[in-house]
Amino acid sequence: MAQKIVVANWKMNNDEYSSKALTYDFLKLLSQQNNTDIKKILCVPFPFLGMIENMCRGTESVYVGAQNCSSHESGAYTGEVSVSMLSSLRVTFVIIGHSERRELFNEKDDVLLEKIKLSLSQKITPIFCFGEPLHIREKNQHIEFVTAQLSNTVLKLNKEEFSKVILAYEPIWAIGSGKTASLENIEEMHKAIRDVLKIKFGNSLSSNSSILYGGSVNSTNAQDIFSLSGVDGGLVGGASLDAKVFLEIVNSMG
Ligand code: PEP
Repeated sequence: MAQKIVVANWKMNNDEYSSKALTYDFLKLLSQQNNTDIKKILCVPFPFLGMIENMCRGTESVYVGAQNCSSHESGAYTGEVSVSMLSSLRVTFVIIGHSERRELFNEKDDVLLEKIKLSLSQKITPIFCFGEPLHIREKNQHIEFVTAQLSNTVLKLNKEEFSKVILAYEPIWAIGSGKTASLENIEEMHKAIRDVLKIKFGNSLSSNSSILYGGSVNSTNAQDIFSLSGVDGGLVGGASLDAKVFLEIVNSMG
């Protein structure tokens, strides 16, 4: 069975003080309950990774992730952060291919595949994001579009490599827009993704892969989304900036 996972993506929000406070509040609320079967991954800005990893260490089922990494191992790449730097901070997850990186920083599938391979080489689990823009959805080409994104990236991995990747389907038009995809849209896409995985990697790897949904998940819609067949959790942006709301979303996994 696929691991249940909820990822917080803080994006470029919070300073050192508020990052500490948010993490403290979340861990405190979490300590009052018990849901260790759901992995909670806090993907926080680079400068706070070490501090938050320290705070979370020892809390079962809470992990820290980065929101990006370099596609190069090391060297003259001013401003970049390598996977070995992340690994040295005990970071065990990294978001790769978020639509904001693809759109605002022009990251293409070939570069994303390099990032995935590099992170796997350092035993860092990639949380690979993909999804269609609105004009593709309106032309009813969303399944072909997403299949091509997967073919250019994770479908090029071998079975062992792929078994370590978390997938996050995030329709671009639903991210930060307050417009969640309909339950039918989400279920249709998750089934299509699993069918593609089944052809490439076989039935068991397809059904054991965690496929998350992201795009305006909040404490009101999370339960319906997470109870859909084929949805193993969520990637949460805006709503993860409030500890209580984020925990409510985690608890919606049931
Ligand atoms: C995201 O950051 O990937 C995201 C889904 O953001 P939001 O939940 O704010 O739509």
